[in-house]
Amino acid sequence: MERNFISFSPPDIGEKEIAEVIHSLKSGWITTGPKVSLFEKNICEYCDIPYAVATFSCTSALFLTLKALGVGSGDEVIVPTFTFASTAHVVVHCGATPVFVDSDPDTFQMDTSKIEDLISPRTRGIIPVHYGGNVVEMDEIFSLAKKHGIFVVEDAAHAIGSEYNGRKIGSLQSDATCFSFYATKNLSTAEGGMVVSGNKTLIDLVKKLTMYGISDSREIWQSRYTPKGNWFSDVEMIGYKANMTDLNAALGIHQLQKLDQFNSTRAKYSLIYKNKLIGTGIGFMDVKSHVRSAWHLFPILLPANVDRDKCISELKEKKIGTSVLFRPLHLHSAYQKLLKCRQGDFPASERIFERLVNVPISPSIPEDDINYIADSIKKVLL
Ligand SMILES: *Cc1c(COP(=O)(O)O)cnc(C)c1O
Repeated sequence: MERNFISFSPPDIGEKEIAEVIHSLKSGWITTGPKVSLFEKNICEYCDIPYAVATFSCTSALFLTLKALGVGSGDEVIVPTFTFASTAHVVVHCGATPVFVDSDPDTFQMDTSKIEDLISPRTRGIIPVHYGGNVVEMDEIFSLAKKHGIFVVEDAAHAIGSEYNGRKIGSLQSDATCFSFYATKNLSTAEGGMVVSGNKTLIDLVKKLTMYGISDSREIWQSRYTPKGNWFSDVEMIGYKANMTDLNAALGIHQLQKLDQFNSTRAKYSLIYKNKLIGTGIGFMDVKSHVRSAWHLFPILLPANVDRDKCISELKEKKIGTSVLFRPLHLHSAYQKLLKCRQGDFPASERIFERLVNVPISPSIPEDDINYIADSIKKVLL
């Protein structure tokens, strides 16, 4: 039988999501409205945190949070080098400087033992990134933040549903946590993001910034279509346009109901991979016992004698899509120009990257295919 290509990270959109989008389209309310508010409320309940604001993306969530915290020219913000570009881009867009930190070779998370040396009088905060759904050693981040009076904003793009010491990511003591609902993430609204926080003032400010800096802009919009609200508007600050629409929230409301099921399937698949690939010389990401990973990614480190490009193309011939997430930021030309960083600066991240392949772990992939992928990896290594 001819096998279909197994793509790296397909979305899992069901009939309920589709019906909800159609409902929005027919309701006459297609932009930020009741479904965005409901999705925000549902995320607050899920994460056990009082306040949330939905955004266009995780990138805009992170950017507007830094803006709301007053990050600007002359400031420094500590970020891992082993992350997606937007974690550092948002710091640059604020006019501030990202300061890279190397990775822990076992957990692949930012190496918290290397942070204190990087803290200067200009340091305003830290953005820990929960790579792959695994979690950064947050107790150490919080004690550094407290000692030096700096903020913590979690980039939890991979970590909706992850837990640290029995608490959901989003409910820890950070200033704010940002999620991504991009097409490939554990919960998808096609494009989308969310900031959650225990700080109402911060969330109200981010909400204003998503809507041009106009106060109560959501209510003003409603006044155009419903008997509620007031026509008066005041532009209180020079804001942005980064709101989520009800069409996206319609997807999110139903995706969230399936998230725990999605994540437990991911955990099951991670065990299949580990059980099948143990003893082959492949290295795995270590998840500590006080962490529950959302398994957004399943990274494997190939044995040193294996040619990665050859391995990836042989898997492609076997109809298996893979990815390499991430090429550390200090190796990218834009950051080399901007920060004068170069190869060799962050050796642990480079060692992970050089042998790294991410294999499919989406819950929409059948279990048989996961077994087939694991068996194929073994064959390719021979
Ligand atoms: C996907 C991702 C983002 C950006 O999310 P968007 O919603 O696409 O803006 C940020 N950080 C990390 C680590 C990511 O993987």
